[in-house]
Amino acid sequence: MYEIPKKKMGWASCVQLQCSTCGWIHDFYTSANSPAAYDVSIRLVYAMKYTEQGYAGARKFCGLMNIPGVATKNNFHEISRRLITKVFKVAEDSMITACKELYADD
Ligand SMILES: [Zn+2]
Repeated sequence: MYEIPKKKMGWASCVQLQCSTCGWIHDFYTSANSPAAYDVSIRLVYAMKYTEQGYAGARKFCGLMNIPGVATKNNFHEISRRLITKVFKVAEDSMITACKELYADD
């Protein structure tokens, strides 16, 4: 079992399993993937936004934790943009649900 550095996607690593007897090979990523990005990348961007750190904070965090392969600034901001869109949608849906509950009591 070993990591394939060329296939690293942001903070998600690609790990390859290989059977030494029959040569069977299986690659997998260390994080689930969604249409927006790998979960680990979304979570890091969310944490950095929530703590008001931004891209510079992500670079500092990864440096301190000795995590290589920090996403590019463009990738960070693209994930951030998609995340904000989802957060607004969740907030809006939550407010609509709250209003419906409030007026349902009348
Ligand atoms: Zn085998």
